[in-house]
Amino acid sequence: MSKINNFSVIDYKNNMFADCMTTQKYSENKSLMRQPTERTCMCCRLKMTKHKLIRITKYGASIELDIKHSKIGRGCYVCPTKKCTDLMISKKTLNRVYKCDVESCVYDKIVSQIIANLD
Ligand SMILES: [Zn+2]
Repeated sequence: MSKINNFSVIDYKNNMFADCMTTQKYSENKSLMRQPTERTCMCCRLKMTKHKLIRITKYGASIELDIKHSKIGRGCYVCPTKKCTDLMISKKTLNRVYKCDVESCVYDKIVSQIIANLD
């Protein structure tokens, strides 16, 4: 009786071990497949790794520049170029992205902050 019990314990342990191995292999595969996170510029639609783009975030009613990509809220991305910031103002891209009226002073503030953060 005790032998049977021992067997079943070993079986159980082996199964656990097999489960661990499967989980480990799965996470290894996942990390191999991981691509650098790409985001699309909301103005020119170019895809880039996200640290090359400038993040803007909307949380509640306030729309702000998110230099460190760390603020909460709904984020959108724009190239750090004059071409794209000009497009953002002329096409009022933030209105479209956030589906609301964004005042021109908000655009002015964000664009001047973007320009201040360019090299
Ligand atoms: Zn762009």
